[in-house]
Amino acid sequence: MNSKSYTRNIIEEDKKETDIEKIKSAKILISGSGGLAALVSSSLAKTGIGHICLVDECAEKITKFRRQYLFETANLNKHKHVSAKDWINSFNKQSNVKVIKDKTSDIDINEAYQYDLIVDCCDDYESKFVLNEISQKAQKPMIHAAVTEFSGHLTTIIPSKTACLNCLFSPNSSFSYQPKDIISPAIATIAELQTEEVIKFILKKDTLLINKLLTYYSLSTDFKTISITKNKNCPICSKN
Ligand SMILES: [Zn+2]
Repeated sequence: MNSKSYTRNIIEEDKKETDIEKIKSAKILISGSGGLAALVSSSLAKTGIGHICLVDECAEKITKFRRQYLFETANLNKHKHVSAKDWINSFNKQSNVKVIKDKTSDIDINEAYQYDLIVDCCDDYESKFVLNEISQKAQKPMIHAAVTEFSGHLTTIIPSKTACLNCLFSPNSSFSYQPKDIISPAIATIAELQTEEVIKFILKKDTLLINKLLTYYSLSTDFKTISITKNKNCPICSKN
């Protein structure tokens, strides 16, 4: 891939070759292959990420096609994981793409160890909390994002350093998440911000969303950054 294809705004001219090598050698594990995962994985491939692993268990549902960019009508007769690989490689043939047809809860901890970073693009919070535990057990950073209707949010979770997803949204709290039809503009905005966070992590930029939750409300084009703190009694991360 031509170096001109890489993100110009993030790569500094005097570090260009080193930064490009970091991006090419990065190993990213993405859980979920709905609309968010589709946009994030394609953006990461376009940016030049060398190794992308997608984990998703679901058989494709026709009703979700209109917002699932990974699976065009031409791929209806292909298995979802095959069409996902083909689609990502259409943006960058040099990206090494692996698709694991599994539940998030079935991600082997040894598999997680092989990656630099976990990207949470799961559709449901049950899977997101499972992924959070995997991130903590494997001590692998996780970029969490979620989108519903007209809003979305994201944060970067660094085990032993920052609040984890459980600190933020305990499964036992009143917080609940109901998947709804997601409008494309909201999901595309959050996907690009999540991709940017991945690239900043790889390039070790100090502007990550550490202990910060970025929220976006698309109807009023409103962004907010909320400070978050680690729960000292969190059953998932307090022992780290
Ligand atoms: Zn926690």
